[in-house]
Amino acid sequence: MKAHDGMYIDGAWRDADGRDTIDVVNPADEQVIGRVPAGTALDVDTAVRAARAALPGWAATPPAERAARLAALRDVLVARKDEIAGTVTAELGSPLKFSQAVHAGAPIAVAGSYAELAATYAFEEKVGNSVVHHEPIGVVGAITPWNYPLHQIVAKVAPALAAGCTVVLKPAEDTPLTAQLFAEVVHEAGVPAGVFNLVTGLGPVAGQALAEHPGVDLVSFTGSTAVGRRIGAAAGAAVKRVALELGGKSANVILPSADLAKAVNVGVANVMSNSGQTCSAWTRMLVHRDQYDEAVELAAEAAAKYGDRIGPLVNAKQQERVRGYIDKGVAEGARLVAGGPEAPRERGYYVSPTVFADVTEGMTIAQEEIFGPVLSILRYDDEDDALRIANGTVYGLAGAVWAGDEAEAVAFARRMDTGQVDINGGRFNPLAPFGGYKQSGVGRELGLHGLTEYLQTKSLQF
Ligand code: NAP
Ligand code: MG
Repeated sequence: MKAHDGMYIDGAWRDADGRDTIDVVNPADEQVIGRVPAGTALDVDTAVRAARAALPGWAATPPAERAARLAALRDVLVARKDEIAGTVTAELGSPLKFSQAVHAGAPIAVAGSYAELAATYAFEEKVGNSVVHHEPIGVVGAITPWNYPLHQIVAKVAPALAAGCTVVLKPAEDTPLTAQLFAEVVHEAGVPAGVFNLVTGLGPVAGQALAEHPGVDLVSFTGSTAVGRRIGAAAGAAVKRVALELGGKSANVILPSADLAKAVNVGVANVMSNSGQTCSAWTRMLVHRDQYDEAVELAAEAAAKYGDRIGPLVNAKQQERVRGYIDKGVAEGARLVAGGPEAPRERGYYVSPTVFADVTEGMTIAQEEIFGPVLSILRYDDEDDALRIANGTVYGLAGAVWAGDEAEAVAFARRMDTGQVDINGGRFNPLAPFGGYKQSGVGRELGLHGLTEYLQTKSLQF
């Protein structure tokens, strides 16, 4: 797609306030593929005013009509899915097949789910002598990352629109073309002017201006814990609602009764998918000491098979960061059994699929989010030890448990401090609430729980 040189505000592409631009780079070959405007605080202010002006009308639009706009939005996403996949591949570098199935496919499912929820949700309920109205929270400031560029936009914008909120989006600087394409989709779907607005730009400039704008009622942020903490603090000071989807260091717990080969192979695939740039990735594999050597061998083999089937990381900075973590793993005494810090290609921001054995709990690579194709395999003595290790980080976003008996896996999962657990390889469910325990975040996205984040209640007594 061709990049727009303006901002999508109040239903049209408008000139940006400043002249600064951001180069969009294809991480597979390091070529500049487009240029978008770098928004200023004034651009953000113009967009927030448009969203505020559109709020009363959209909030008063019957839910059935909001549902119809969301259904239309899903249909346009379907019609343009090849273009979406191509755009994500161009600016994120993910293999085209993965872009088609996941980067284009998941947002279609999520948009469809909110078309349905908007039509069926009880926005009014009777409680004793009260009628409780579920009203939109107001203007939403959405700040999104680059790792699942369209999914993360749709997981905020679709429930916000279903609830009757209006939105200003500041997407990641690395993936603004996907965001511009989404603005075209919203327009084509017939969403009224001002209901959705887009300001491309840098985090510390446009992102910060949006997070701190007094005209924003709810800030919904997905990204690093460092930035999330600041946004949460600012929102607290302003007494406004905030939703934070932050990092993870999820445990893949393989109990002794599990199908070891299956658990290891699916576990490796989970980490390598999207080049490891997934907040919910199972980056710690926990294996009983009696099965440890076999699991390490299986994992090393599985990782080696990935060879050059995985895409690059999003940019040079992330590549450096991930290679730094691999160096640190080696320095702290972990044993490399696949991959390593050397760049596998001359061009593009690639990192080899990497597996570490002999990882212990205290090591940096067992505690910090790496955000690359790097798996750490840890040894446990018994179930209590496994649970202690699984719960032993500041994060709690996702996880997995494998066991011969489903009830055994469920019993273990119930003791984990984490927002999602996949049992014996359970599939992604776009209706299941997604979000973190502990420092992985505040609030939930997707499904019914994702919708209620954008609502506030008003009780009328009779
Ligand atoms: P990030 O800086 O937190 O970026 C997320 C979003 O916040 C981007 O749109 C970013 O804009 C914006 N932002 C940055 N600074 C801001 C500020 N002061 N105020 C308001 N918004 C701001 O994350 P990153 O630099 O892309 O990645 C760094 C690390 O974060 C990764 O290695 C990974 O560990 C973690 N991460 C987690 C997730 C997740 O899904 N949980 C996603 C991405 C990254 P810019 O694009 O201009 O920076
Ligand atoms: Mg950043």
